[in-house]
Amino acid sequence: MDYQAVLEEVAACARPYVGQGRVADYIPALERVSADRFGIALADINGAVYGVGDWQVPFSVQSISKAFSLALVMAHAHGDDDIWKRVGREPSGTPFNSLVQLEWENGIPRNPFINAGALVVTDRLQSLTGDASTTMLHFLREESGNEDLAFDQAVAGSEADHGDRNAALAHFMASFGNLENPVPSVIEHYFWQCSIEMSCRDLATAGGFLARHGLRADGSRLLEAREAKRINAVMLTCGTYDAAGEFAYRVGLPAKSGVGGGIIAVVPGRCTLCVWSPGLDARGNSVAGAAALDHFTTLTGWSVF
Ligand code: GLN
Repeated sequence: MDYQAVLEEVAACARPYVGQGRVADYIPALERVSADRFGIALADINGAVYGVGDWQVPFSVQSISKAFSLALVMAHAHGDDDIWKRVGREPSGTPFNSLVQLEWENGIPRNPFINAGALVVTDRLQSLTGDASTTMLHFLREESGNEDLAFDQAVAGSEADHGDRNAALAHFMASFGNLENPVPSVIEHYFWQCSIEMSCRDLATAGGFLARHGLRADGSRLLEAREAKRINAVMLTCGTYDAAGEFAYRVGLPAKSGVGGGIIAVVPGRCTLCVWSPGLDARGNSVAGAAALDHFTTLTGWSVF
């Protein structure tokens, strides 16, 4: 398959959607990003990378980090499944920052890819490594091959300034005994991990282990094949929040989105994609990004279905 030609066709099909939706405006640092951006990258399992448009422009990874923190917890826990006692793996059907289910379900979030679930995963990673966000940054540098990856101080700072909702989620879960570390430290590491800046190229490359059934770029094993399969399963069912059903219907790939406008998607055994366009739909997923992935699976026939 001529990946470059496929991406060019996908980008052309997605072009009319670029600029649609709303750029995340809950913090000033994200609001300033131009809605006209569009980039897509594909990293095949052998490490070759292809891209079109703004595929090398860094953006805020935001909730895409949730897929990596889950992977890191699994990798550091060495097969110990305890995290699943503290977070479920069912689609929430509620917005990514919702509080409501936590009260009904005794402080156990529905899945690791909504904010509440990601806070629990970050908490676990903090216990396992002593420094959750730095562990993630180093991991992403290594897997992407980009040593320049960094936290965006302005984004992390304004996440904290506007972080009442995430603090509320964390405190509420702590009241049920579902956090191991103090709330301020958990939310701080969560904000740092969300603030990492990466391009489509970086993210598609760093997510390669999900397409390689748990193997890292250098051939060493990060996760067991069944663990990579499980992360992909949870991405498919929960990775795009309360639009996961619609996303599976349209795209049919494990995917994780973020309010920075990025989406990573995995074709197990073949490649990892990342698309970026900042205009979001009402559920917080990139409008042009979803359109692009929809065209990609239509064109290639490579949905998991
Ligand atoms: N930093 C954002 C938040 O916690 C991440 C949300 C997202 O990307 N959906 O609200």
